[in-house]
Amino acid sequence: MKPFDLSRVCDPDCQRYDLSRPFVFREWRYASDGRIAVRVPAPGEADTPNDPAHPGKRPYPLIAVDVFGPVDFSRCDAALPVVDRWVACTWCYGTGRDQKECPTCSGAEVGCDTCFDRGEVAIDGSTCPKCLGKKRTTADRRIDGRLFAGWLLGIVYSVPGVRYERVPMAAAIGAAFRLQPLVFVGDGGLQGLLMPLDPNRGRAGG
Ligand SMILES: [Zn+2]
Ligand SMILES: [Zn+2]
Repeated sequence: MKPFDLSRVCDPDCQRYDLSRPFVFREWRYASDGRIAVRVPAPGEADTPNDPAHPGKRPYPLIAVDVFGPVDFSRCDAALPVVDRWVACTWCYGTGRDQKECPTCSGAEVGCDTCFDRGEVAIDGSTCPKCLGKKRTTADRRIDGRLFAGWLLGIVYSVPGVRYERVPMAAAIGAAFRLQPLVFVGDGGLQGLLMPLDPNRGRAGG
């Protein structure tokens, strides 16, 4: 199995921080889109400097300190629940191809014959980074009481050798409103965190 591709969880539209590409900080390589964060060991590699293409933004070393710092990954020994329900990939609309903002309506999603009100159109020849071209992903689902977005879970499921920290049901429900993340590991020393859907906002928090 190929190693996990960190570029799948980057965010080209990042506002405050440059999350448009993976970056190295203190010998870990990180990637995040604000909802899912992954890191792999990068021994001996120098910290990533600012990208001149994103002036005023910076790589997000706070992920290392604030987000990953307090997490104990040593209890990730459980297999993820079997996927029991699949849906068309919500990133690529089941096309299997990566999407970009519709050039006709600029994502307005109203009365557009180019994107059929999707607000996005497929990028020719490109594979969907979320479902890897499989055109489907797991439905939104609860794991130990926390609700996770299906397309983000699909990324976690695709991590080679993935194991997660099973949380007692009562503890997970009790912490639901503090957005207790899914804590997972994978082959090659990979560590990851997935934020649950915010029950108050109806989308992935972060
Ligand atoms: Zn459109
Ligand atoms: Zn897809």
